[in-house]
Amino acid sequence: MVHFIGAGPGAVDLITLRGAALLKQAQVVIYAGSLVNPGLLAMCREDCEIYNSAEMTLEQVLSVMEAAEAAGRTTVRLHTGDPCLYGAIREQMDRLDELGIAYDDTPGVSSFCGAAAAARAEYTLPGVSQSVIITRMAGRTPVPDREGIAALAAHGATMVVFLSAGMLEGLQAELLKGAFTEDTPAALVYKATWPEEKVVRCTLGTLAQAGRDNGIRKTALVLVGDFLGSSYERSLLYHPEFTTEYREGRK
Ligand code: SAH
Repeated sequence: MVHFIGAGPGAVDLITLRGAALLKQAQVVIYAGSLVNPGLLAMCREDCEIYNSAEMTLEQVLSVMEAAEAAGRTTVRLHTGDPCLYGAIREQMDRLDELGIAYDDTPGVSSFCGAAAAARAEYTLPGVSQSVIITRMAGRTPVPDREGIAALAAHGATMVVFLSAGMLEGLQAELLKGAFTEDTPAALVYKATWPEEKVVRCTLGTLAQAGRDNGIRKTALVLVGDFLGSSYERSLLYHPEFTTEYREGRK
């Protein structure tokens, strides 16, 4: 059996209880070494075989899983944040299906949640934005044309940009082609929930400069949108005059 597990954004105590229990029992662990906190490996059994997937190909990862399965051992595949975002798990799961190896997936706290917590922000503010666009700049991995940053920025919705801290000039220019202006608030969140976490607040007009000034080129998320500003409407749900299934509003 293979267990895919979301390790969370960084802090070791942000893995789920289920993820931690599976990690403690695993006989083989393959972890995404570039971003998973190595502190999590302290939970592993002494006889656990540990592999760092940053140094491996998909084929090597699968052959470790296959050998473990043949030996009747339990494997944990530990991904950063939640495996469903930029995790490259689909290609592993499809291959495991072909090989007839059973697997399951334990979610984790994605870094976009860790970044909101670090910035003490709420992405979905009434009267500001009710949608979150999670995307990335095209790098060596291409992005479909219809999902270019400028096209997505046309909505003016909250945007969280992954995998792009090394391309802030281009990102800033593309975002400015949408509904945002130079004054739209933005933030760079570096290593959210790690001890070295850093939140740099800026505007879209100063985004690239903020990255240069703070030496942030990787392991960061770019947050953009008026949710980082100061105006919004209060929620209806908690308004005294609003009636819900659980509470009678007063007129
Ligand atoms: N599955 C992961 C994302 C993997 S892609 C998740 O759910 O978070 C790797 C990118 O995620 C990095 O380039 C960076 O943009 C972002 N990232 C991962 N951990 C981060 C953290 N602790 N703080 C800020 N950004 C992070």
